[in-house]
Amino acid sequence: MSDAPPPVMTQARRLEGAPFASEIRERVAADVATYVRDHGHPPGLAIVVCGRSAPSMVYLERILKGCAQVGIEGSLVDVPGDDAATQEAELTAALERLNDDDRVAGIIVQMPLPAGVPLRTVVDAIEPLKDIDGIHPLNAGLLRLGFEGFLPATAHAALEMIHRSGVQLRGTDAVVIGRSPVVGMPLAFMLTKEDATVTVCHSKTRDLADKVRRADVVVVAAGQPGLVTGAMLKPGAVVIDVGINVVDGRIVGDVEFESAERVAGAITPVPGGVGPLTNALLLNHLMRAAERQDHAREHFEA
Ligand code: NAP
Repeated sequence: MSDAPPPVMTQARRLEGAPFASEIRERVAADVATYVRDHGHPPGLAIVVCGRSAPSMVYLERILKGCAQVGIEGSLVDVPGDDAATQEAELTAALERLNDDDRVAGIIVQMPLPAGVPLRTVVDAIEPLKDIDGIHPLNAGLLRLGFEGFLPATAHAALEMIHRSGVQLRGTDAVVIGRSPVVGMPLAFMLTKEDATVTVCHSKTRDLADKVRRADVVVVAAGQPGLVTGAMLKPGAVVIDVGINVVDGRIVGDVEFESAERVAGAITPVPGGVGPLTNALLLNHLMRAAERQDHAREHFEA
C-alpha cells in the first residue's frame, strides 16, 4: 500500500456573471442619463430578428429587459418574408433604414440567420459605427490588427471572465474550442494579444483531450453538451463555458460542470456565467457607439 496521501478534492471558484453585469449596468445607466440630458432622448438599440423561435425570444427579451433597466430604448425589428430571397432583401432594407435613423445608436442581428440568408447580407449592410457586436469587416479587421473597434460581445464577455478569474494571461497556454467568426476566432485573437499561446480546436481536431489537458485556460464555445469533462482538465485551470444548450428542458453549457468543478481553479456556470455578462457588455457597447457617433457628427459638422 502506498503512503501517499489521498488526492485532495478541490472545489473551483465559481465565476458568476451577475455581479460583474450589475456593476457594468450601473455605469451604463449613469452614462445614459447624461446622454438623455444632452440629447433629449435615450440612445436606441435595434434588435433585428428574422423569424422568431422560443429560445431566441428568451435571449432577446433578456436584452430588452437590460435596456429598460439602464434607460436605453430597445426595440425588436421583425424582418418579413416567407422565403430566403424576400428575407434577404427585407433584411438589407431594414438595416439601411436603421443605419440612417439617428435615434438608433446600435444594431444587432439575431443569429443564426434563417437557412438561405447569408451572413454576408448583414456584413455588407450594417453601418460599422452602429455594429455593436463586432461583425462588420472593419471591426473584425481592427481586432485582427490589434486596434480598438467593437468586439463581439460574447467573446468580450469570455475575456472579461478570464480577467476576473485573476489569472495573468501572459505566457499561459490557452485552448479555445470553437472557431466561429462570432465567438471562437475573435477570442483567439484577443487572447493572443494578451500574450497567451493559443490553440484553436474545432470539430476536426484530433485528440481534443490531449490539447485541453495542457491548457491553463480553456474556453469552450462549441454548442456540444458535456464536451469537456473534469478528467480532461489540468488541475487549477480556468474554465470558461460559453456554450448554451437545452437538454431535457434544462439549459446547460459545453462543460460537464460537476466533474470539471472538482479539478478547475475557476469555472463559469451555465446558466449564470458568460450569458449575463454578454448582455451587460452589449449595453456598454451601445453607449460607446452613441458617443462615437456624436464625435463623428461633430467632426462632420466642424
Ligand atoms: P457555431 O458557429 O456553431 O460554432 C461552433 C464551433 O464549435 C465550430 O467551430 C465547430 O467546429 C466547433 N465544434 C463543434 N463540435 C465540436 C466538437 N465535438 N469538438 C470540437 N469542436 C467542435 O457556434 P457559435 O455561434 O460560435 O456558438 C458556440 C456556442 O456558444 C453555442 O452553444 C451558442 O449557443 C453559444 N453562445 C453563447 C452566447 C452567450 O452569451 N453565452 C452567445 C452566443 C453563442 P467546426 O468549425 O469544425 O464546425
